[in-house]
Amino acid sequence: MRILVISDLHANYTALEAVLEHAGTVDETWCLGDMVGYGPDPNAVVELVRDIPNLTCLLGNHDVALIGKIPFETFNTDARRTLEYHERVLTADNMDFLRSLPSNVKVRGEATIVHGSPRDSVWEYILNTLSARLNFDHFTTPWCFVGHSHLQCMFQLDERTDRVSLRQMRVGEPINLEPRLIANPGSVGQPRDRDPRAAYAIYDSSARTWEPRRVAYNVAEVQQRIREVGLPEKHAMRLAEGW
Ligand code: ZN
Repeated sequence: MRILVISDLHANYTALEAVLEHAGTVDETWCLGDMVGYGPDPNAVVELVRDIPNLTCLLGNHDVALIGKIPFETFNTDARRTLEYHERVLTADNMDFLRSLPSNVKVRGEATIVHGSPRDSVWEYILNTLSARLNFDHFTTPWCFVGHSHLQCMFQLDERTDRVSLRQMRVGEPINLEPRLIANPGSVGQPRDRDPRAAYAIYDSSARTWEPRRVAYNVAEVQQRIREVGLPEKHAMRLAEGW
């Protein structure tokens, strides 16, 4: 089965559209959360996600805040300003869709999927080999797919030596999956690994491969919409450089 894995869409419709087109035909789509926050198009993004067939969708921290389960004060000023805007403009239907989604860890075949980390599904960032090592004790499947950090990366645990290493990956080259791994498809709507192209991954559950992918999209168009609706300039600037 060919599965599209996306995360951290962050109300960036142009990036999401580019990813769905670039991914081609898939059997399933797994969305690891954060459809809202930062970007200018919360309704368009939620509506596009709702229409994806065979979808498994989890909530991220921004989504959970928007449906009222985390206070906005937990976020920095710029992120909070955007959430306040999203709260104003999101339609009741789209809000209901978000409310219908889970924010906890899910298991799908050999994969555990979650927004943050298996030990803290909404908030923890897996940014380094130490946090990755600690999290390997919190899931039992051969691999776990996470979002939240906006970094396209993969951590491998060598069970013999108990050491975790960062696995080298090349965009467009499928990696053979072997136990045990934590992989992040990167962010569709706000990449933070200095590559401004939208990030995602294709997981082939039968071939047991993971292919990190990137696709360029019209960043200027999104920046213009961010400015038009009066969201923080920082959210526009960072898209051009991927931070
Ligand atoms: Zn995010």
